[in-house]
Amino acid sequence: MRKRIFIVVLILLSLLSGISVTAESRDFSVYIDGDYLKTDVSPIVSSGRLLIPLRALSEAVHAEIRWNEADKSIELKKDGTDIHLAIGKAQASVNGKPTLLDAPPEIEDGNAMVPLRFIADALSYNIYYNEEKPSVLLSSGENPTMSVHFIDVGQGDSIFIILPDGKTMLIDGGNPENGKMLEEYIKANSNGALDYLVATHPHADHIGGLADVIKEIGADNFYMPKITSNTLVFENMLTEIKNIGGSITAAKAGVVIDKNDKYSIEIIAPKSDTYKSLNDYSAVIMLTYGNRRFLFTGDAEKVSENEIIADKKADIKADVLKVGHHGSKTSTSAAFLSRVNPSVSVISVGKDNTYDHPSEAVTARLKLYGSEVFRTDILGTIKAYSDGDTLEIRTDALSPEIESAPLIVYVTKSGKKYHTKDCPTIKSSKNVTAVSFEDAVKKYSPCSVCKPAA
Ligand SMILES: [Zn+2]
Ligand SMILES: [Zn+2]
Repeated sequence: MRKRIFIVVLILLSLLSGISVTAESRDFSVYIDGDYLKTDVSPIVSSGRLLIPLRALSEAVHAEIRWNEADKSIELKKDGTDIHLAIGKAQASVNGKPTLLDAPPEIEDGNAMVPLRFIADALSYNIYYNEEKPSVLLSSGENPTMSVHFIDVGQGDSIFIILPDGKTMLIDGGNPENGKMLEEYIKANSNGALDYLVATHPHADHIGGLADVIKEIGADNFYMPKITSNTLVFENMLTEIKNIGGSITAAKAGVVIDKNDKYSIEIIAPKSDTYKSLNDYSAVIMLTYGNRRFLFTGDAEKVSENEIIADKKADIKADVLKVGHHGSKTSTSAAFLSRVNPSVSVISVGKDNTYDHPSEAVTARLKLYGSEVFRTDILGTIKAYSDGDTLEIRTDALSPEIESAPLIVYVTKSGKKYHTKDCPTIKSSKNVTAVSFEDAVKKYSPCSVCKPAA
């Protein structure tokens, strides 16, 4: 069945009124199923239609192209759909059925530029147009796809998000040495300034690369908790915000970053004004899109977690949890985890880090709660895609070992309990044996100190 094509309101209006699309064409971002369409030549607007480079488009939609130099005609083929068009000609056809183009294909800097909407339509993509951004989102499903990128910054956090309306968001910016890489990553995956930038708390592994990002990419809205730090990285970040004339909104429970008919981004912590640990100031963010929810916890520890769950009615259930504080045992209490109950957990952590993150007790607990654990130190950058219903995790290096490895717990020769590896009660025991959790539960009960099953 042919999918309903959503009318591109502004483009339609501009056709009727004879004026062209107001936004500068080079500012347009095109996203296809959650991925940015990076092109060497910027899209152009012709007769109110967006023309984009044929080669980049065909690669992104996995279509075959055939170019005929003699008559400058183009054939595009995908899944039994056969599209014909030619440079400078309004006549085109889809599966032999002739159609007239409002904007014929053109040559720009040696690149064949083709009308995006016509091709998307012919290939049964749904099209969403966001005039404000401006961006065009093509979706092979009913709704546009959002993507959440847990960028591998070693020991630190940085999460880049392409929202379902083409807006972009960055939560944290890794370490100072990650700045350049983050700048390149964001430029390869979007166009123009970020819409939202959150610095969860002023630790160097979260705000380190932000000065570079703010200077080179910029952001329209800044959020950070009301706590300062007399470190150079913090000063550098503030200087760059000041340089671009940015204003900062205090991140605290109840602040709504965005809420519209498609999605909402809400800050649910910090709930207090002062904490002993800087980590507890972390902005904790709930992102809801359709039936799917993502919870980003920064480095929030149990103090903040307990404040969040103290509200018994608060719905903090999420499908994806960005595990707090790099999987440290200071965070992700059983009580908090039972309320979030994530099917997917992401731990942003550095290989062989000196903190021994993540804690084995935390990864064990996540698995016991039925959460699949994804770690940046093992998998590199981890991306989650959702159209509000579906949820798909993609990594460049899906490691089969970690996903299929059985959960291991530890028992002593004479003991009746099973423990996590770092449980203090078995530290001095000589005869500690590793057994699978599956076997352990048949003969042993969970230790009440390390609470491996809690
Ligand atoms: Zn951290
Ligand atoms: Zn921290």
